[in-house]
This record gives sequence, structure tokens and C-alpha cells, in this order.
Amino acid sequence: MAGATYALRALVLRKTKLAESDLIVTLLAEDGRQVRAVAKGARKPSSPFSSRLEIFCEVDLLMASGKNLDIVKEARLVDAHRGLTADMEHAAAAAPMADLAARLCQPGLESPKLFALSSSAFSHAERADAQGAAAVCAAYMLKAFSFAGFRPSLRRCVVCGALLAFDAVTESRVGVRFSVAEGGAVCDSCLLFSDAVRVPAEVLSWADFLLMSTFDAVARQAPPVRVSFEVLHVCQSWAREHLGSRIKSLEFLFVSGVF
Ligand SMILES: [Zn+2]
Repeated sequence: MAGATYALRALVLRKTKLAESDLIVTLLAEDGRQVRAVAKGARKPSSPFSSRLEIFCEVDLLMASGKNLDIVKEARLVDAHRGLTADMEHAAAAAPMADLAARLCQPGLESPKLFALSSSAFSHAERADAQGAAAVCAAYMLKAFSFAGFRPSLRRCVVCGALLAFDAVTESRVGVRFSVAEGGAVCDSCLLFSDAVRVPAEVLSWADFLLMSTFDAVARQAPPVRVSFEVLHVCQSWAREHLGSRIKSLEFLFVSGVF
């Protein structure tokens, strides 16, 4: 039997089929907690949940506490973020954001900034063109990692703190040493014992811009898609090192050829 009811604003991040026609939805609640809940009958075409519990939807829910998982009783759309599923480019750029949010949020752990960041990123990505959506995705990943305590050091040597003097314009493809395990760029003096690989200065410079800028600015001054992808490759290595496994939808983005 269902228990006490409560209201919840949330973003839908994942859907998993359950039994004949039910769904388990993974939600990012407004306070940043992860909530997994059962939506009974949600896969029936006649269900009032259909189209309201799609991935990327922002919803107001009436929930009932359950024994294991809570139960979605009612759902009202706040913003479906339909633009994210309108074409392949937007869908491919948005999926890694939902995946990373689902990986970073945890049951019982409040992180209101993660909800605000994710909601804002979804809105900006759907309004941007394909190039802008890829840039918003890269910016979102860098910001979300930073909120979770895995902020990359992009301008200073992560070992000694020295400011790294590289000119991203004249030496755009010159490599700066970057260590995923250490957590950022590494200067020449600190290379010993480091697993650093070369990342083009242009890519680190753009990553710094994406991390430090608002989504408005990111969408307005988006780097070329090629550069956003290089930043996303760094994010993928970052996920493997610091979260323990890669983001599968990023892998799809890299090989799908939709951009
Ligand atoms: Zn150093």
C-alpha cells in the first residue's frame, strides 16, 4: 500500500521498463537529490503519464512513499524541453547531460545547484543551434563536474599552481600537458611522475571559457563543433577517471556522425 503523499518538482533523466506497462523513472529533484520512482501503466498509450515522463521533461509530481521505490501518482508538465528531441543533433548533444546528471546525483544527497544548472542547460541547448547545443553540453559537463568536486585546473599547473602561459590564438594547436589523474594542466617542471598527455592549447582555452561563462554566452559564442567535441573527449576521460566509468551517450555522440 502506498504511504504519505508529497509534491516534487523534478527533471526526468532516465526511464527503465518495468513489468508489462510500468516505468521506473530516475529523477533529479529540485533539491538535487536523486529519486527513483515507479509510474504504473506509464507505457500504455492511454496513460496520463505518456509524454509527461519523457527524458528531459521538467515536471511537477504528486508522489506517494513506497516500500522500496516511491510511486508517481500524478504528473504535470512544467517544460517538456521538446526542442531537445526535435532533431538528432539536439538529442545527441542533450543525452550526455541527462546521463551525467543521473550519475552525479544521489539519493539523500542535496545539491540544489545541480538541478538549476541542468534545467538551465536543457533550456539553453534547445534554443541554440546544433553548434550551440554541442557547446552547451560541453560547458554543462565541466560545470557539473566542478559542482561535484572534480573541477579541472585549466589555467594553472595542477601540481605547483604556476600560471601556464600559452597563447591559444598563435599557438592554437600547440599541446599543453594535461593529466586527467592529477586533475588538470601540468607545467614542464612538474612532468615527472605525471601521466600527462598533450591537449591543444586552443582546446584548454575554450574549455576555460566554457567553464567560466554563462550558458547565454556559451550559446552566443560557441566554439566550432570540432573543438566542443575535443572538450567532450577530455570530459569522457574525466568521467572514466573520477566517476569510474565512461558516459555511454558521449560515446554515441562521438561515433554517430550526426554532427
Ligand atoms: Zn607545475
